Order: sequence, then C-alpha cells, then structure tokens
Amino acid sequence: MPRLAELDHRHVWHPFTQMRDWLRREPLVIVSGKGVVLRDVNGCEYLDANSSLWTNLHGHNHPKINAAIQRQLKKIAHSSALGLANEPASLLAKQLVDAASEICDLRFAIYDSTGKSARKSEIVNRKLEKVFFSDDGSTALEVALKLAYEFARRSGRSKRPKFLSLEGAYHGDTMGAVALGHIDLFHQSYSGLLFKTDRVMSPYCYRCPFNRAKPERADAREYRKCNWECVEKVEQKFSAQKKKGNPYAAFVFEPLIQGAAGMIPQPAGWLKRVTHIARRHGALLIADEVMTGFGRVGQASCLSPSSGKARDRLEACPTLFACHHEGVQPDFLCLAKGMTGGYLPMAATLTTQKVFDAFLGEYGEFKTFFHGHSYTANQLGAAASLASLDILHGAESVRARMRLQKNLHDELQNLWSLPNVGDIRQVGLIAGVELVKNWRTRRPFDLRERAGIRVCEAMAKRGVLTRPVGNVIVLMPPYCTTPAQLKQMVAVLREGIAATLGN
Ligand code: PMP
Repeated sequence: MPRLAELDHRHVWHPFTQMRDWLRREPLVIVSGKGVVLRDVNGCEYLDANSSLWTNLHGHNHPKINAAIQRQLKKIAHSSALGLANEPASLLAKQLVDAASEICDLRFAIYDSTGKSARKSEIVNRKLEKVFFSDDGSTALEVALKLAYEFARRSGRSKRPKFLSLEGAYHGDTMGAVALGHIDLFHQSYSGLLFKTDRVMSPYCYRCPFNRAKPERADAREYRKCNWECVEKVEQKFSAQKKKGNPYAAFVFEPLIQGAAGMIPQPAGWLKRVTHIARRHGALLIADEVMTGFGRVGQASCLSPSSGKARDRLEACPTLFACHHEGVQPDFLCLAKGMTGGYLPMAATLTTQKVFDAFLGEYGEFKTFFHGHSYTANQLGAAASLASLDILHGAESVRARMRLQKNLHDELQNLWSLPNVGDIRQVGLIAGVELVKNWRTRRPFDLRERAGIRVCEAMAKRGVLTRPVGNVIVLMPPYCTTPAQLKQMVAVLREGIAATLGN
C-alpha cells in the first residue's frame, strides 16, 4: 500500500463512513485534478461524477479561480472579520446581493391561488441586502436558524419560536442543523441533544402514498395521479400549529430538490404553493440552497418581459438560485458548497434589512448578534467566490450549463431499460437514479444490502466516482463536463448496475 494510504488508514477518520469497511481496502488517494478528471497516487484517472460531493462547479484546477486565489495570496490570506473589513469579502457581499435580486419576469398564473400572476415585485420587494459569512453549509443554516429565532422573539411573533422542515430534511451536521433534519438514520441517536422541530410531508412522488399511478418508465412527477395532497398536509400543519397559539416562526426547505433525502425533486408549482401558505401564516422562509445554488438546478424558463404581451417568448432566466425558478424570495438564503467554485470552505447567509434592523441598538442594549467564526469572510475564499461568479455570469458558462442539462437528460434515458432502475429524476444538472428490486413493484433494497454503495464501488473500478444517498445513485457533473465524459459517466453507471445487481 502506498505510504499516504497507509497513513490515512492509521490516522484519518472519514466522514459518513463505516471505518471497518474503509480499513478493508486500499483507499483512493487523490493527488491532483484537472477539469472533470481526478488523478490518484498510482496515476489512475477518474471522472468526478458528483463534483466532489456537490461542491465543484467549473472543474478542478480552473485557471481563472487559481489565478484569483494566487493574486489574493500575494496580498493576504486571512484577516479577521471581527473588527475588520476586507476587500474581497466586501466585493463578494455586493455581488451576492445583486445575484439574489437578479430575476426575470417569471409569471406564475397557474400556481398562484389568488389567480394573479406572481411578479418580479415579490423578489424586488424582499431584497436580501445583508450577508453574514461563515464556513460551510451547516454554519450557514445555524446562522439563519439563530437569526430567525431571535427575530421571531424580538418582533413579538413568538416567545418560543418553532420551526417546520420537510420529511427527509438534511441541513448539516452541527446541532442546530441536525435539529432541523429528519433523517432518522443520521439524526435519531442525537435526539437527546436536540431541540424539537416539526416535520411535514415532502413531495416524494415516486413513493407518495397519495400517488395512485402505477409505475411507468418515466420520472414519477410526470405521470403521477394525485390531488396535491402534499400541499394540503402543509396547510394542515400550519393551521394546527396556529391553533396551538404559537404559529411557526419559520419554514425551512431545500427548493426544487432535496439532496441527502435521496435526490427528491418537487413537482412544478409545489414550492410556490407551500411558500404561499407559509407566508399567509406569517412564517419566515429559510431556503437552504447549499446544494441547489449557483446554477446547479439549471436555467429557469421565463417569459421575456421585453417582447410585449402578445409576443411573449420563452427565454432562459439568468437566476442562479432555485427559489427564483418559482418566483419565491426567501427571508434567508443559505449558500455554501459551490460558492467558491468548490475550492474552499466558505458560506453565506443572506437576509433582509428588516431582520438586520432587529439586531440594531446601543451597545448596552446587547442586541448584537453574538455569533461568528475565526475564518468568517476569509479573503482566499472570497477571491475564489468572486472568480467563480464571474465565470458563472459569462455567456460561455450559461451555454455550457444548458447543453449539459440537455445531454444529461438524453443520456439518462438509456437507463430505463434496466429493471433495477425504478425512478430517474433530474432537476437541471442534478440527477438521482433510484435502484429498486423490481421497477414494476417499486420494492426497495434494504439499506443493509448496500445496493447503492456496491454500485458506486463498481463504478469506481471503471473510472467514475460518485457516492450514493441510500439506494439512489447521484450524478452531478461539473459544468465543464464534455458530452463524451457525460456519456462515459452514464455508461459506467449502467455497467455498474448491471454488474452489481445482475442485469
Ligand atoms: N444543506 C444541504 C442541502 C446540504 O446538502 C449540505 C451538505 N451536503 C448541508 C446543508 C451541509 O453542508 P456542509 O457539509 O458544508 O456543512
């Protein structure tokens, strides 16, 4: 075994990993990367099919991001944000605020219960003007949680603010984020340490008890037969909590698709409907865009405002955030993972002037938000993020993302012929392939059978790296993935399923 692998075995404890399994085999030791390709210590190359756990956007070793970090490094790597401002963090805050206000004229007549179109004003009127930097997705959520909690108390809405999140929710591994989570496998053991939050049904069409459709060879959202009972459940939950005299302070959700829950996509219109309910009940909206942010959910379609009513044209909407695809502007927008292009740990929680104002006062009133981290607003992370945003806004990247989204859709169709593929769900540049014992019955594999893990191991042997979430294989390629590389990823997934599950 190479020395680095030996050292790893001796000393490193890996996240979300059964270390007994880990110690049974030689680990892949990555030494370099370029674009979509990762290279290990033995010189073997692999395609990074999950963008290094959903973080990388433009590929590894990107010349523009490398140069931005190097330029910053010549000035300074880090100075504290406790008491000091800095150049790239100030510039980045402005760019994030602008990006969070960037929305075209989305029309939502079909989804809006008032019968009126939800207009751009919803986004413009609830401007996210303030940026609180932190380190990763979990801390971005902790910040939103604490701010929302204290805002609800200070604004007189609640003495004991309560939070509602989705079934299967995953918002990180620090204790506040864990309290918002509802994946029993990860979270149950720590229940003694947590404050209680409520959960509400999320729209998992493929396994929804209200979906009366028989399985078909298509994304379950497309052929579902239901009456939006999942939306009714949300309404019931908010009403019941209101009757208790303590309405929910905030509703926490991943927009358009839940990641760690199993790549569970929401049918078009769900987000608009449930956030409308939450708003009607006066709850704040906390959007966790740790996975979905920065173009990951692809391009929204919108009607071009310039073309006039009679000649409205469908166009690509420039927004980088999933919420905006349904015309929703949250009170808290939590960003991490792809923010630095997948280079460095840095996160941001965006919020409104109104929330910010609730923390203003004379020093002696002690209204300060007493929260922060050593590396908050780190200059290297901010420089990388600025470079990444610059690439994202470029026409070349927009075109590449649109192409990749279409190619991903086309390639994935090749998997329907496998009987162990139950559902294939795609939202923009994210795909989840749910493995089942038999597609006709939707019968799941027991987690102990490690179906997802075994398929990913078979894929790694064939040069494609990804990680499953339970029985769902994730494909989330970097935006620079070529058609040939994508073809290879899907072909290897197909082979991996066939070799492991016997088709
Ligand atoms: N929210 C979501 C939606 C996530 O997918 C993750 C991480 N997978 C987190 C929060 C936590 O982020 P981090 O691992 O950076 O703390």
